[in-house]
Amino acid sequence: MVRAERVCKSFGHVEVLKGIDLEVKTGEVFCIVGPSGSGKSTFLRCINHLEKINAGRLYVDGTLVGYREKGGKLYELRDREVSAQRRDIGMVFQRFNLFPHMTAVENVMEAPVQVKRTSKAEARKRATELLDRVGLADKVASYPAQLSGGQQQRVAIARALAMDPKLMLFDEPTSALDPELVGEVLDVMKALARDGMTMVVVTHEMGFAREVGDSLVFMDGGVVVESGDPKDVLGNPQHERTKSFLSKVL
Ligand code: ADP
Ligand code: MG
Repeated sequence: MVRAERVCKSFGHVEVLKGIDLEVKTGEVFCIVGPSGSGKSTFLRCINHLEKINAGRLYVDGTLVGYREKGGKLYELRDREVSAQRRDIGMVFQRFNLFPHMTAVENVMEAPVQVKRTSKAEARKRATELLDRVGLADKVASYPAQLSGGQQQRVAIARALAMDPKLMLFDEPTSALDPELVGEVLDVMKALARDGMTMVVVTHEMGFAREVGDSLVFMDGGVVVESGDPKDVLGNPQHERTKSFLSKVL
């Protein structure tokens, strides 16, 4: 579903991604862990067209992200083509970014109505189903300010699902939550994983990574230092940098 080949990204003179190679298989939960500033968010943002890579190749579902290759040369895609690629990818951020003036169901309906031109009635029906799926059937008419952080994040997940993505990206989805609200969000993510969604999850929740993750990479300084089965990498890290990081977070 995702393939990165020597993906590089710089901001000015600062090289943030220094040749990322990885592969996310369809249906798997792929976890990315690593210290702050190691490039995890930047990598997710490259997958979702929020940043453009400077070198290497990045594929989603077999299609080059953001570029067309012709005669060995790369050409940037037009905005319309980029939008079409982004439509297949759902993203959930640390901060939920819900529209404050819209109810939960309106937040979830927004993209299908605006982007896919789904009828309001149809979008509302589907949004209600999705809110039910994340355990918020009784909150459809609530505004974000009336919801807890965990509930808002579950609305954000439902909102991402409303576009029927084939890939979901999660960037530290529980990091901004009070500890007692983390579990309800992780439970929704676990259910999504069980239903077969392909998920790339940047997280500091090592329990989740161990229990739900199919693969895990440890990133540091813009490179993948170590990768493998989460139980192996977390339980028996091979590299000093991984050991040092895990000793601080576990
Ligand atoms: P992580 O998510 O692992 O904490 P990030 O991908 O957010 O790391 O950031 C990696 C590095 O890239 C950091 O040093 C950060 O300051 C830098 N960076 C991220 N975005 C930008 C940007 N838009 N402009 C300049 N530097 C950036
Ligand atoms: Mg980050």
